[in-house]
Amino acid sequence: VAKGAGKDRHERFEPIMHSAALARLELATALRTAVAGRELLLHYQPIVDTRTGRIDGVEALLRWPHPQRGFISPDEFIPVAESIGVIGDLGNWVLRTACTRVSQWPNLRLAVNVSPLQLGPALPGQVRAALADAGLSADRLTLEITETMLAADSPHVRACLQEIAADGVKLAVDDFGTGHSSLSRLRSFPIHELKIDKSFVIGLATGDSHPGLVAGVIALAHGIDLEVVAEGVESSGEYILLKNLGCEHAQGYHLGRPVPPEDIDALLRQHPTQPLS
Ligand code: C2E
Ligand code: MG
Ligand code: MG
Ligand code: MG
Repeated sequence: VAKGAGKDRHERFEPIMHSAALARLELATALRTAVAGRELLLHYQPIVDTRTGRIDGVEALLRWPHPQRGFISPDEFIPVAESIGVIGDLGNWVLRTACTRVSQWPNLRLAVNVSPLQLGPALPGQVRAALADAGLSADRLTLEITETMLAADSPHVRACLQEIAADGVKLAVDDFGTGHSSLSRLRSFPIHELKIDKSFVIGLATGDSHPGLVAGVIALAHGIDLEVVAEGVESSGEYILLKNLGCEHAQGYHLGRPVPPEDIDALLRQHPTQPLS
């Protein structure tokens, strides 16, 4: 490359590269401050038991109210939290805060998302402490992991999950269908349920998504004794279809958006939950 051309290139591309790197750095710095200052919040989204039509659980979802940008999506900031090494502390805070909150809601189950970076020897003890301090029984907690965590099949991950499951905590595979799980490997982990990714559910009733696909996943799950949660239920048509296919649980905007805990309090006053069977 001629000296002149190289210089041109720099002049044209450097500012763009700089601004992207700068934006990442700014986000990382702001996130560090927000985590240290406890500025992140948890919202809770109802999960409905299709057999009773009642709310029987909630999923805790992180929210970051950014001073300039409003709420930033966790899909954007979780990877940043992972890359700057704060996901361990943040994940433990989520676990403790959510367990404490849900212990105040009689009979409700709690689902918490876990980052692959949290799956290590410290996690089982953190989970136990969060449950004990909140006074929440282990069978009310489900940890959501992803297919990729199982695909790597590391002995450390396996040991961690087995210890957590042995304590009575349930495990769910989140966003199921977006990765590639070997069924025999799935079966070899102490998994209780699959969460069908919302991309298979949205548009189910209008023909934009193929009902046969979802029916197949539900049959597959039941065939290996797993329960199913459908994510992304946005219409009553989708809900009825899923219920008729034997999908045990449903979650989505049609049933309730993720909301601050006070709104769950209000919801439960209107629709009290039944005791867990
Ligand atoms: P996820 O665990 O699959 O959570 C479900 C996502 O789908 C949430 O997005 C929820 O708001 C959204 N959703 C729920 N119902 C509907 C619907 O009917 N239609 C549509 N289009 N979307 C719906 P959210 O809150 O933006 O979270 C995105 C992801 O960020 C989560 O996906 C999860 O992977 C991650 N995340 C959130 N909180 C945590 C956390 O505390 N720890 C970790 N490690 N990850 C988290
Ligand atoms: Mg989830
Ligand atoms: Mg999901
Ligand atoms: Mg996800």
